[in-house]
Parts: sequence; structure tokens; C-alpha cells
Amino acid sequence: MADGIKLIISGPSGAGKGTVIARLIERLEALSEAYYLSISMTTRYMREGETDGVSYYFTDKAKFEALLAQKGLLEHNVYNGEYYGTPAAPAEEAFAAGKIVLFDIDINGGRQIRERYPDAVTCFLIPPAFSQLEKRLRGRGTESEDKIRHRIDIARGEYAAAADYDYVIVNDTIDDAVEEILAVVMAERCRMCRRKPLLSI
Ligand code: ADP
Ligand code: 5GP
Repeated sequence: MADGIKLIISGPSGAGKGTVIARLIERLEALSEAYYLSISMTTRYMREGETDGVSYYFTDKAKFEALLAQKGLLEHNVYNGEYYGTPAAPAEEAFAAGKIVLFDIDINGGRQIRERYPDAVTCFLIPPAFSQLEKRLRGRGTESEDKIRHRIDIARGEYAAAADYDYVIVNDTIDDAVEEILAVVMAERCRMCRRKPLLSI
């Protein structure tokens, strides 16, 4: 079985996490890599083009809090006034199967996963310049001007808090960002802690 990797991809809203992860998945499939993309649960509204059970599990506050009370989430956070969390059961199943497990979660969630699983690998994805965030969010056209401004404010704090992440991925072109993430996966697989069993002769 291939070594599983818990790969956390965080970054400010509009950096391109969803876009890059979608392309990364195409590459992983072409490489016949076993992966699992964690589908988060959230109380935020469903955007146009999103599908329940694919983009997120969309739910209400009461159901989210019930799952939280049952310890059914690996981590959770409140972002922009809404709950977001990682369902525990499917992720744990994917860890046990030795898959590359991808998490598109915020910095707060990334820290919680790392506390629980110190071998988790953390990537902070950013555009080549901070000013691109606003442009990309506006181009996406899914948030009001107010919400865009609020997301940019949150992004300032995220940049300041990202120093404990392992890697910085620059999403200038999507393909280059994907190659950087694949390079991280490759490097992590070569780590002494993962390959130590090969040294026992
Ligand atoms: P996030 O998931 O980080 O919030 P998205 O993947 O939704 O970001 O991307 C935000 C917007 O930026 C989308 O409209 C997307 O098409 C665009 N985008 C993503 N990556 C790039 C890139 N490398 N260059 C230009 N635009 C990009
Ligand atoms: P969006 O509303 O743009 O889809 O996501 C907003 C933020 O929430 C992004 O930074 C995204 O990575 C983060 N996020 C999505 N799912 C989760 C989750 O399950 N847990 C945490 N902590 N953050 C999440």
C-alpha cells in the first residue's frame, strides 16, 4: 500500500484553492494515485454552480452542532459567521486505506488537524500578489462587494498567521501551482520518518 499523506491546502478566499485542487485531482487520476478529497460540512448558503454532497454538505446550525456534539468532526471553525467542519468518518477511512487525503480548509482547521495528526502536511496557497485576491473574488462573482471586503480583511490575518505552514504554493498559473503541490507530495514521501522501515536490513 502506498504511504498515505494528509495534505492540508489553506489560503485566503479567492487564492484559487478550489480551482487548483480540481486540476490536481485530474493529475492524480492520470497518475493512478489513490486520493480522497474531504467534503466539508457548512452552514453557509449554496452558491450557484455548487452541489450538495459534492462541493460541501450544506446543513443548518442545529444539525452541525449535533454532529459536533457527537464528535463527528475532525475539526471545525467559524468563518465569516458560518460553521465549516470536516466530517471524521470518511477521512479516517481514507487514512486507513493509505490514500492521499486532501483538505481544503482554513488555517484554523489546518492547525486543529495538525494537532491531532502531527504527520499532516500543510500548504498555504496564495496568488502572486495580494492585490490579485480582490480581482479574483470579483471575477468569480459569487459574493457581494461587502462580503468581498470582509474576505479580504480576513485574508490579511491569514497571511500574518501562515508562518507555521510547511509550504507556500504560488498560484500564478494553475498548472504551475499543481506541479508545486505534486513536488511537495513527492518530497514528503521521501522523508526519513516515512522511509525508515526501508533502512532496517
Ligand atoms: P478559492 O477556492 O481559494 O476561494 P477559487 O478556486 O474559487 O478560489 O478561485 C477564485 C477565482 O480565481 C475563480 O474565479 C477562479 O477561476 C480564479 N482563478 C483561480 N486560479 C487562477 C489563476 N491561476 N489565474 C487566474 N485566475 C484564477
Ligand atoms: P468558502 O466559503 O469560500 O467555500 O470557504 C471559506 C473558507 O472556509 C476557506 O478558507 C475554506 O478553505 C474554509 N473551509 C472550507 N471547509 C472547511 C472546513 O471543513 N473546515 C475549516 N476549518 N475551514 C473550511
